[in-house]
Amino acid sequence: MKSFKRVLIANRGEIAIRVAKTLRELDIESVMLFTEEEKDLPHSSFGDISINLGSGPLSETYLNIERLVKICQKFKVDAVHPGYGFLSERAPFAKALQEAGVELIGPPTAAMESMGDKKTSKEIMEKAGIPLIPGYHGDNQDGDLLAKEAVKIGFPVLIKASAGGGGKGMRIVEQESDFSEALNSAKREAMNAFGDDKVLVEKYITDPRHIEVQVLSDTHGQHFHFWERECSIQRRYQKIVEESPSPALTQELRQSMCDTAVKISETMNYVGAGTVEFILDKDGSFYFLEMNTRLQVEHPITEMVTGHDLVQLQVRVAQGEKLPFKQSEILQNGHAIEVRIYAENPDKDFMPSIGTIDVVGESRLLGVRLDSGYKSGNEVTTSFDPMIAKLIVWSTDRTQAIRKMDKALSDYPFLGITTNRDYLKRILKHDVFLKGVTFTHFVKTYADDLGPRPLSLEDKALAIMTNGLISTRKKETREGVAVTTAWDQLSGFRLN
Ligand code: ADP
Repeated sequence: MKSFKRVLIANRGEIAIRVAKTLRELDIESVMLFTEEEKDLPHSSFGDISINLGSGPLSETYLNIERLVKICQKFKVDAVHPGYGFLSERAPFAKALQEAGVELIGPPTAAMESMGDKKTSKEIMEKAGIPLIPGYHGDNQDGDLLAKEAVKIGFPVLIKASAGGGGKGMRIVEQESDFSEALNSAKREAMNAFGDDKVLVEKYITDPRHIEVQVLSDTHGQHFHFWERECSIQRRYQKIVEESPSPALTQELRQSMCDTAVKISETMNYVGAGTVEFILDKDGSFYFLEMNTRLQVEHPITEMVTGHDLVQLQVRVAQGEKLPFKQSEILQNGHAIEVRIYAENPDKDFMPSIGTIDVVGESRLLGVRLDSGYKSGNEVTTSFDPMIAKLIVWSTDRTQAIRKMDKALSDYPFLGITTNRDYLKRILKHDVFLKGVTFTHFVKTYADDLGPRPLSLEDKALAIMTNGLISTRKKETREGVAVTTAWDQLSGFRLN
């Protein structure tokens, strides 16, 4: 068995910090990266060794494979944790590390390659007898043939880029006459985003739920699942509220989905952490959507309900350890919710926003976890993803967890910039959400209910209180500069 002494975290922000915390606990040194622009962000000084990548586009910094491999060699790191996004699912990176004799804390390259392509992954699943959304995922990309397949499937259909991710290259087509135009625009978008315009066509499931299963396998042929996450609350095909367990599942359905996910891991001889995503139809049928061969953004809710540190397990698996527990010992306890705090304006079509975070906030509750890449005084720019933090709470049941999350959001106002904080609160308070009726079109269906609202009494009180804080801080740090009115400084907070 290997024993890592030093690990490079090939990522930034909240996930780099989160991984570093586990490495520290395991007595492994962390090497952290940052760019010139990120000098003041918390991750720049969080590691045991910090490397300034200078300035330049991502291709010259975080995504520069050659440069990262050189850093590994120079600093004699044993392994790399790629986090999520960036190089986490890029097979060439995995190969380059292998050649340099550096371990990747991730899956085998073959699994990464086959699951990175929606078409290939569906072919593998079909052979293994895993339920797939009815559709066409063949090689023939002729427009007329795809249109014929769409008719066979029955409208509405969904055109999807095979190399896709983040909802790019995806088009819903309601009727045959719209097909060809939608196909062309999906292909164009896919070519721009992924350099590959292969598509697949599948039945568009109306009002489905998105439910995923966390899996983890070791190098000794043991395949585990860590139960499900409900991720139906999305905007623009991206998750914003996640919870575990899912309010939609019976125990029987839950077991069936988790068993299917394990079967997928076995089929692929998978190693490491992964997530099998399913679409759940109203009649209780579920279909394989895709498998993500990395740690997910929303992994903390699984950690909260199972009590396992998934990053720790990833490291142990990469060191070759045989995991010492049984499937029957991995239990779901209580209820966890995560919300993604974005620097964006939900009332203006989720437009990204920038500015200085005057005050992040501080929790006044038990059982709350804030995974954030920013601290008070930091600048949010357009250079990186607008997700600035994840707020995660745990409680004994769903109702308590929702209430706790609402309070937790009040404690972390992220004053100074516009965020989706109030919008998230409106979702949590919505009657339909409270009843556990979550589905992927929730946000669109209830757009009117989720629109701007007057501030609650508590929020008003907090605004006034926090304003005192900001004024004091500004006076201290910018001597002699007149402080503008209270509400001017609360742009992310009040209703414009
Ligand atoms: P991406 O890789 O771009 O994220 P996915 O295949 O994972 O694409 O799908 C993203 C989201 O799109 C899902 O969570 C779901 O909300 C929606 N979706 C995908 N396929 C279908 C489908 N066949 N019918 C209805 N909604 C779908």
